[in-house]
Amino acid sequence: MRIHHQGRVEFEDSAVMLDHAGRDGEPIILSHAHSDHAVRKGRIIASPETTRLLQVRYGVKTAESLDYGKQMSLGKIKVTLYPSGHILGSAQVLVETSRTSLLYSGDIKLRAGYSCRPIRIPEAENLIVEATFGTHLFQWPARERIERQVFDFIEKSQISGRTPVFMAYSLGKSQELLALLAREKIHASVSMTVWEMSKVYEEFGVDLGDYRLYADEGSVPGVLIVTPQKARYVKVANPGFAAVSGWAITRRFNRGATQIPLSDHADFGELLRYVDGVGPKKVWTTHGYARELATALRHRGYDACPLDTRQFAI
Ligand SMILES: [Zn+2]
Repeated sequence: MRIHHQGRVEFEDSAVMLDHAGRDGEPIILSHAHSDHAVRKGRIIASPETTRLLQVRYGVKTAESLDYGKQMSLGKIKVTLYPSGHILGSAQVLVETSRTSLLYSGDIKLRAGYSCRPIRIPEAENLIVEATFGTHLFQWPARERIERQVFDFIEKSQISGRTPVFMAYSLGKSQELLALLAREKIHASVSMTVWEMSKVYEEFGVDLGDYRLYADEGSVPGVLIVTPQKARYVKVANPGFAAVSGWAITRRFNRGATQIPLSDHADFGELLRYVDGVGPKKVWTTHGYARELATALRHRGYDACPLDTRQFAI
């Protein structure tokens, strides 16, 4: 087996691409529908939810669906998807041959959320793990504390006569927020891309409560959820903004707004626990804090290194 940093995994007589475009006809396994992972051309294989999101979000109509836990044979390679707990349809990709196994994490979240399936961690000999928040700077507060911050922000905004406006990514974060608000029966208005993605969640049976499409009115009942790009254009009178992101923990993210560190990703400690769960002999770290996470894993006794511009053979 040979792993390239561009997401290509080669075996003796075949290859698969992981979240990257491949050569003509080569299978491309997609972990999820976020734009930094989603390929739009070629022979794409993904979970049914991701396949649907690709269609609605990017107009990709030809992706093949593979259910979680079902094995697909691609020549001598077998591919299985496992829920990764990140967003609707997100998957870890397990690639197996008669000789070895490789797990590609994609983006993962270990904490159970309200809007997608919880992660299920398979074991594998080799692991490629996303290191988005792979340094000790990123340790999320307890879930209850983060949720309290959401409701406190709403309450304080309303007491001071402001409309609470959450700035959240349109796919994943917004729906987690909607599902959380639904538990307290708080009504939300949402911008167009949030609306479109939320409708796909509902197609797959996720309860996002009572929400409506924001039509640029000067006032809305309850709260407003928009993408960060849309935030500067909102027309509600007297808005109060909250930025909802794991990056909020470093206080470098959107200084003008209340910072709420609700993340769709594993924090540093959770990434270490994840690797323990997989139990690999060899780990490659990729994206974000790849070098820092590899160092931390080596201190824990793993054979770990960043998957950078070099090419690695097993
Ligand atoms: Zn993602």
